[in-house]
Amino acid sequence: MALGRDAGSWASWSALRSWAKVGANQPLLPVVRRAFLAFLLVCLAIVVAQWAITPVVPRDRSWPALLAVAGLAVLAVLLFRRERPTIVRDLFTAVGVGVVIWAVGALPAGGVLFVGTSLRALYGGLPGALLSVGLTLTAMTTGVLTAGGSFSDVQLAQYGPGLLLSSLALRLVLFAVRRYETGTAARFEAVVRSSRDVIVVTDADTAASYLSPAVVAVFRLTTGLPGNRLLDWIVDADRPAAAAWLARLLAEPGAAATTQCRVPIPDDDRPATVEISGQNLLHDPNVRGLLFAVRDVTDRVLLTERLRHQAYHDPLTGLANRALLRERLAGALGATTDVGLLLLDIDSFTVVNDVLGHLAGDELLIQVAGLLQRRLAPDDLLASLGGDEFAVLLVAGRSTAREAERTADDLLAVFDRPIEVAGDLRLVSARVGIAVSDGDADADRLMREADIALRIAKGAGRARRVRYRTELHQHAVDRERLQVDAQGALSRSEFVLHYQPIHTLADGAVRGVEALVRWRHPQRGTVPPDQFIPMAEGSGLIVPLGRWILRQACVSGVAWQRLINQPLQINVNVSVRQFVLGDVVADVLAALEHSGLPPGTLTLEITESVLATEHDAIESQLSTLRRLGVRIALDDFGTGFSSLGHLHRYPIDELKIDKMFVARIGGDDPTCLPVVRAIMAMSHGLQLSTVAEGIENDGQRAELTAMGCEFGQGFGLSRPLEGAAMRAALLRSAVR
Ligand code: C2E
Ligand code: CA
Ligand code: CA
Repeated sequence: MALGRDAGSWASWSALRSWAKVGANQPLLPVVRRAFLAFLLVCLAIVVAQWAITPVVPRDRSWPALLAVAGLAVLAVLLFRRERPTIVRDLFTAVGVGVVIWAVGALPAGGVLFVGTSLRALYGGLPGALLSVGLTLTAMTTGVLTAGGSFSDVQLAQYGPGLLLSSLALRLVLFAVRRYETGTAARFEAVVRSSRDVIVVTDADTAASYLSPAVVAVFRLTTGLPGNRLLDWIVDADRPAAAAWLARLLAEPGAAATTQCRVPIPDDDRPATVEISGQNLLHDPNVRGLLFAVRDVTDRVLLTERLRHQAYHDPLTGLANRALLRERLAGALGATTDVGLLLLDIDSFTVVNDVLGHLAGDELLIQVAGLLQRRLAPDDLLASLGGDEFAVLLVAGRSTAREAERTADDLLAVFDRPIEVAGDLRLVSARVGIAVSDGDADADRLMREADIALRIAKGAGRARRVRYRTELHQHAVDRERLQVDAQGALSRSEFVLHYQPIHTLADGAVRGVEALVRWRHPQRGTVPPDQFIPMAEGSGLIVPLGRWILRQACVSGVAWQRLINQPLQINVNVSVRQFVLGDVVADVLAALEHSGLPPGTLTLEITESVLATEHDAIESQLSTLRRLGVRIALDDFGTGFSSLGHLHRYPIDELKIDKMFVARIGGDDPTCLPVVRAIMAMSHGLQLSTVAEGIENDGQRAELTAMGCEFGQGFGLSRPLEGAAMRAALLRSAVR
């Protein structure tokens, strides 16, 4: 809303104005009048000069004549300024002309007569001009007679027609000029009337004196406007700003300024947005008012708002996006030092996407966005950073470390219940990284710190939320390093397999072994799979690594089967990413062929995520594997996001009850036993063999045996062992 002469829509308006005027704000009629007047004054001056050079005036008559000439000149100047003759002035003119005639005789009187009558013709109407001619002729006659002349000296026949004709000619010229001006004005008005902008002319008090017809369309008028003043048309909320704008417009003559405000629309809750360009033309004799052009810009404003919204929001969830978060974060850090930032990431979201398809992934994100939003305070900003990452900006009282952690726990509680995705309830989990400003953090740093905290939370296994502390920085650097190291670890033969025996619970015999990979890091020692398997899944390393594990496990398996001369089961974990990125069937075939392991003694452990799939390729790989005779076990049963109801549809042979359930046996949770019992009943009903994982004590073992669980695995039975130790253990159990 800047004050200035070149405000946007004025360009066209000024062009129109100058088209109808001569020069700057000059109508043609006064110009013509002034030109004539100047010409007449010159005539008068010539008469006086002529008189001065050859004095024709008798001494006794010179004073009245001089006065009369001066009077005529004053009259001319008066008319020049006021532009409005009266009958009194007509009389004065006539008397003046008469006195001059009386004084000088008839000769120079022609010019004076011309002056007097022409003035009248210029400024009066036609009747006025004729009256003036009549009066002047009478005065001339009287003047000549008074000077001692005769009627023949009056020479009426000589002056009369000339005077009349010059008078008429002048009127004609003026009439033509006026016609031309009215024509342009009419054309100008037609343009104004057909304009889609409302053209409004008001007085200094903004009461409208002219309104162009577009007012009906712009204000969607059914009856009248809400009031006669400009401010009456504007919604209450925008009125103070509009009043300030008007005040500035009024303060400076010629000022032009544009503002945007909303006007109420009859029978519609949503006001229209208009842009008002105003120009202060109070000083302009042709307008003497304020001129406004009111344009409906509702569509443009809506479009701009939509584009802005798009630029700052995530299209999927409708939440703020990274750009808006950054802007707000920087703003909050600038205004106060108290800022907290949470980054939340959904665990194994890529698996959801791979397994259930992108539509289901999107659905999950939308659900989670809604659930998170409901747990936040109105001033917290929830943003979606793309993929499965969300962020929350906490300000003021919400941003202390304690409050931020409490909020993180609140958000994580969302994931305690299953979430409905693709028509089923599914359990998903999430991690949160927290960073709290320490007084001199900038937006980038806070984002980085929250990100480090999140990555540590993701790698930590247990902690669902981590708050950034300076020590964590080194931790993050370590993880980066580990990731790099992992890429070359396979070729450097740093991976080894450990094996955990799976026992028949009834008699304690070793029924099989589960291969568990370890990474012998040259500097860090043994790295557990929890720390590098997710990394390998993310980088794709899991495919060659998985191939190596399969082959290695099959080779050991054959050797041990020969050693004890019994059909020992070999269980190998296979990640869903191997199915998606690689070719598990080909890898299994190659491993079986290479080792000579009977397919019926190989069990692939897959998690529920693999089975919940709508990925046709995975399903067909699984059926092929089963046709080959390979067994499929469902690992970590009860923790994934598949639904119990669909268990019968899965092509599986074995159910591994997750250690989470087993660990609760003998604890204080009374609901745990019925759940395990239900799983067992279902497993038996579907004729699956059941393995309980994580048996740590005799009580658990006894309870599970009593419930009819056939197999078990756990530290209470045997810890995972290196190859050589496993071999020894097998030998011992075979001897027994
Ligand atoms: P998982 O498949 O559930 O493997 C069983 C895990 O439980 C092993 O952890 C094992 O050491 C641990 N465990 C066994 N008995 C007990 C017990 O009584 N108490 C407790 N608290 N834990 C017990 P580990 O070896 O650290 O492996 C962790 C996870 O890493 C595995 O869980 C599996 O998901 C993954 N993993 C391990 N090896 C492989 C592999 O070769 N390929 C793939 N894709 N994933 C693997
Ligand atoms: Ca397993
Ligand atoms: Ca397991």
